[in-house]
Amino acid sequence: MSADLSLLAADIRARAEAVYARIHAACERVGRDPDGVRLIAVSKTFPIEVVRAGVEAGLTDFGENRVQELEEKAGALPGEVGGGAIHWHLVGPLQKNKINKTLEHADVFHALDSEKLAKDIDTRAARAERILPCFVQVNISGEDSKSGLAPDALHTFLDSLAAYQHLRVVGLMALAAPAVNPDELETVVRPQFQHLRRLAETYDGSVNVSLDRLSMGMSGDFEIAIEEGATDVRVGSALFGSRG
Ligand SMILES: *Cc1c(COP(=O)(O)O)cnc(C)c1O
Repeated sequence: MSADLSLLAADIRARAEAVYARIHAACERVGRDPDGVRLIAVSKTFPIEVVRAGVEAGLTDFGENRVQELEEKAGALPGEVGGGAIHWHLVGPLQKNKINKTLEHADVFHALDSEKLAKDIDTRAARAERILPCFVQVNISGEDSKSGLAPDALHTFLDSLAAYQHLRVVGLMALAAPAVNPDELETVVRPQFQHLRRLAETYDGSVNVSLDRLSMGMSGDFEIAIEEGATDVRVGSALFGSRG
């Protein structure tokens, strides 16, 4: 390992330890086991050296929001699907023409939000002989700019997925509205996370759908997300610094 990489790894290890300490404290406040929370290090826009340093620092799960960037990084440092020891999560939107690349490189997909996409994934996953674990993204903030299904369309959508044998829904995913001041973490963000959890709890289940996991919480709100039941937090800037 080069001197630069070990310096970077030491820096990332310190930041990761601080994030883990906050995860543990949040779990303790609500009586949860910290082992039930997966830290996904969102490495988008950062070079592969940063991911290598993250691995060196003990991080095991990485997230990207663009397939092209995922392909570059997972090509160099494969996830489980590529025979590696880490896990790659595609946390951003997926276009039809990028599905095969995603199946090649992503261990988990977090942004399933239409039946058309489910059908296209299913066809290609069958051909690739794999089952893609997916989170269904829900637009809990109601902002037009956010992707995701409308909450009241979710359960019908989940029922429709029974037809697809090559994707498996493992949970729900959402982004909360950005809090413009600290008060809004309680008045806006927390109720949105509670809403996502309620949507999971009130679904009866279907053959290839189980909603045991909730992918919610980013650098600015992951502690509240954990208090409200997040099992997968997607943290970028708190680990790697600002993306500028
Ligand atoms: C960028 C991104 C994150 C991480 O954001 P930070 O605020 O840097 O922690 C999480 N989820 C998604 C979908 C993202 O695109």
